[in-house]
Amino acid sequence: MALVVAAGRLQHARALSTLAVVGGGAAGYFGAIEAAAGPAPLRKVKISGGGRCNPAREIAQGYPRGSRQLLGPLSAAFGPRDAAAWFRERGVNLKTEADGRMFPVTDSSQTVIDCLAAAARAAGVRCASTSPLIALARESHPESATMGFEIDVVSGSSGAPLQHAALAPPRGGGSGYTLSADFVLLATGSSREGYKWAEQLGHTISPPVPSLFTFTIRDPRIEGLAGVAVQDAEISLVPIEAPVPAAAAAPVTAGAAPEGAAAAAAAPPQQKRKAKAKRDPSLVQRGPVLITHSGVSGPAALKLSAFGARHLQRGGYKGAVVVNWVRGAAASEAEALAAFQKMRTASARREVATYCPLEQASVPKRLWKALVQHAGIGDNEQWGGCSNAKLAALARNAAACDLSVVGKGAFKDEFVTCGGVALENLDMKTMESRTVPGLHFAGEIVDVDGITGGYNFQSAWTTSWCAGHAIGSSAQQRQPQPQAQAVDT
Ligand SMILES: Cc1cc2nc3c(=O)[nH]c(=O)nc-3n(C[C@H](O)[C@H](O)[C@H](O)COP(=O)(O)OP(=O)(O)OC[C@H]3O[C@@H](n4cnc5c(N)ncnc54)[C@H](O)[C@@H]3O)c2cc1C
Repeated sequence: MALVVAAGRLQHARALSTLAVVGGGAAGYFGAIEAAAGPAPLRKVKISGGGRCNPAREIAQGYPRGSRQLLGPLSAAFGPRDAAAWFRERGVNLKTEADGRMFPVTDSSQTVIDCLAAAARAAGVRCASTSPLIALARESHPESATMGFEIDVVSGSSGAPLQHAALAPPRGGGSGYTLSADFVLLATGSSREGYKWAEQLGHTISPPVPSLFTFTIRDPRIEGLAGVAVQDAEISLVPIEAPVPAAAAAPVTAGAAPEGAAAAAAAPPQQKRKAKAKRDPSLVQRGPVLITHSGVSGPAALKLSAFGARHLQRGGYKGAVVVNWVRGAAASEAEALAAFQKMRTASARREVATYCPLEQASVPKRLWKALVQHAGIGDNEQWGGCSNAKLAALARNAAACDLSVVGKGAFKDEFVTCGGVALENLDMKTMESRTVPGLHFAGEIVDVDGITGGYNFQSAWTTSWCAGHAIGSSAQQRQPQPQAQAVDT
């Protein structure tokens, strides 16, 4: 349910300054805490370049959208090490997994929630839960000769009403209140309302589309294999603009028409050029791929969905992905075929279905058997007796397995939204709007999204830290304006 967080009068400000934070998620809480706590007395102590910039650069690569713009804030303002230190200082002990992801030692997200709630209370942040915001408008503050904001809030059914001097009865009557604020931090995540207010206040919204989702696939080669995972696979998206192999929907069996690279070779030159031009390295991802009841998932597949989010949306989540299940041992179909051909003499008497020669690939036995069967190779057939056509079909299934995508995971199963407030509209150092002074944005509402592994929370911490500190500094700089005196002549 919606939540408004108001970091009431900023304690450290010289003048009466009010910040209204709309959205009580990760970014909203963090921004409110940092703004209310006030600007840091000392500039951040910087560790020399090599220690910080390179990790920041690597981390920035985890953002399909916003990587270039986020690099500065990540390296110069608030990166993953700062976030870890922030939580540790507040009593959250963290552990780092082998893949670099950090978790609280309690393995419970409640630890992080409790920490944020306690830090917010300590900083004097007031929260009004279940209070959806219904309107956000600019207003002039004649007493301070500045512009501010008016926010109409519907009283929550269960949340405590916000007690604050800047509240007034709602302009249109009825239940609720109008909150007057000098600064607003919009941190409404992927809420449609947040995008609407940002747009009404003159900002461009990159169309929001889902990111980080699973692929729904119908293909007999992976049917009944839910739960099977290949640790080192490669999955690539066949861009919708490129010619999709004609037989993408059908499993390859020996003697079937050539597909994939072979089909591309057979395509007219004009189509070939188009396919080549569309090849985007980010649409090829390597890592664990998991077969599910409805298709494929796992880190590499989710990463592909993130980098291919717009391609996939344009194509109505239909098309094809090509999986190399044996990537750890063979980089291509040709390499796999060469290895299989050697088996005809090297292990002639071994059964194909029970012996995969690409040991480094560690393909689970059930998957290997399915790939062999669907290449038209019988259960007891030996390597020595396999025809060229059968080996070619097996190489295709193993290293260039084109699977027909018929959709994406169910709506709301995706983890994050691609799109949001266009970054050109924002000063990335302060996350302030370039056109509406005092209005800041943080978290998922902005056009930054990351892959799995903590990148999205990191973006929320980094952007809200920048916003919170900028608001704190601006509030501190505001001087109280002398009251106008009426002079009677
Ligand atoms: C199932 C799932 C698992 C995830 N796991 C991870 C993970 O492991 N690591 C990672 O980095 N990221 C993860 N993410 C993504 C991450 O949770 C988000 O990127 C992050 O929470 C964004 O924070 P935010 O504050 O910008 O938005 P949100 O957390 O979505 O918060 C937005 C807030 O705004 C409020 N709001 C909306 N409209 C209004 C309104 N009209 N008035 C007032 N309030 C309003 C909402 O109620 C909400 O409280 C996951 C996401 C999901 C869905």
